[in-house]
Amino acid sequence: MAEGRRGEGHSAFGEAAGLFKGRNRKAENTVSWEQNVRKAVPYVAGEQPRKPDIIKLNTNECPYPPAPGVKKLAEELDWNTLRLYPDSHSTILVETLAEYYRVKPEQVFVGVGSDDVLSMAFMTFFNSGRPILFPDVTYSFYDVWADLHRIPYRTCPLDDNWRIRPEDYRQPNGGVIFPNPNAPTGLEESLETVEEIVLANRDAVVIVDEAYVDFGGTSALPLVEKYDNLLIVQTFSKSRAMAGLRIGFCIGSEKLIRYLNDVKFSFNSYTMNLPSQLLGAEAVRDDRYFRETTSKIVATREYVKEELKRLGFIFPDSRANFIFAAHETVPAGQIFRALREADIYVRHWDKPRIGNYLRITIGTDREMDRLLDFLKDFL
Ligand SMILES: *Cc1c(COP(=O)(O)O)cnc(C)c1O
Repeated sequence: MAEGRRGEGHSAFGEAAGLFKGRNRKAENTVSWEQNVRKAVPYVAGEQPRKPDIIKLNTNECPYPPAPGVKKLAEELDWNTLRLYPDSHSTILVETLAEYYRVKPEQVFVGVGSDDVLSMAFMTFFNSGRPILFPDVTYSFYDVWADLHRIPYRTCPLDDNWRIRPEDYRQPNGGVIFPNPNAPTGLEESLETVEEIVLANRDAVVIVDEAYVDFGGTSALPLVEKYDNLLIVQTFSKSRAMAGLRIGFCIGSEKLIRYLNDVKFSFNSYTMNLPSQLLGAEAVRDDRYFRETTSKIVATREYVKEELKRLGFIFPDSRANFIFAAHETVPAGQIFRALREADIYVRHWDKPRIGNYLRITIGTDREMDRLLDFLKDFL
């Protein structure tokens, strides 16, 4: 049964009818279609349990609802417009973002979550055949995309304090990507460090993934005017409370954005649905609500840091909407399982370097108090 495969069987009818007689001979000199499948090891996202009353601190979503205007607009949406294809350029959203971030609309590209934008950017910009560079401890989608798009890559180890070593990014490469603040550490590198890395790589595209920049971080956006090879990627999934609508975007030089659009329009013209375009633009217009919710999350984060310290946790000083914490004595896996039993979901990876850490998303004050109360009892 050398050519036998799982799930492959001969029907009694087929045997009786002699349909499989010449089969083995054929298998020897032809290639199975499965040999030509693009094999991918998919990214594993945090769980989305559909249970009521759980405390969900495992995927860095916003604990507050989207801006009130978003709800109002969703209720007023003319459903008859859904007959039509959406605007393939997402003009309303692109122009609203351009105005908000004070760049030209030609410098903005939107996609179905920043995952879509990032995957498209990998495909568009990382084609030199040389390895792209990213940190060893980082967003675990980067190596998945690299493999999917057949891009070689090399990881650069963070130092013992989870810091990026800019000198690592001076080796020959086909591109650079890192989140700032980094995930899952939450640590932010200075604008000087970002610029140092961009400066050392003027012959490749440097992507800064700013999924968490709105929680007190400093964006590298001002550098975009200076460096035409720098791409800044952001998302509505965390700070704008819209993970369910799937909206991401990037800002860069007009040239970078033009190349991205050429690839996008060769792939699927209508990536973004109409409701996401309209509701996304509405969310950007309510800057006050945005600032209010993000500063509430920052305040909760700082309070939780103090409490966790008191409970014997150590963690890098997060600038994101999560804390990456290890306990001084109790293994992370043990805490993770106990929390899960209590319907409190956090994230834990069984991976080198980070196996003893939990990534805890910042929820509401009430949710965090329930977490802290549980930990006080448990530890
Ligand atoms: C959450 C996250 C993203 C992707 O979020 P989308 O929901 O696809 O916009 C990208 N990069 C990092 C580092 C993230 O944590």
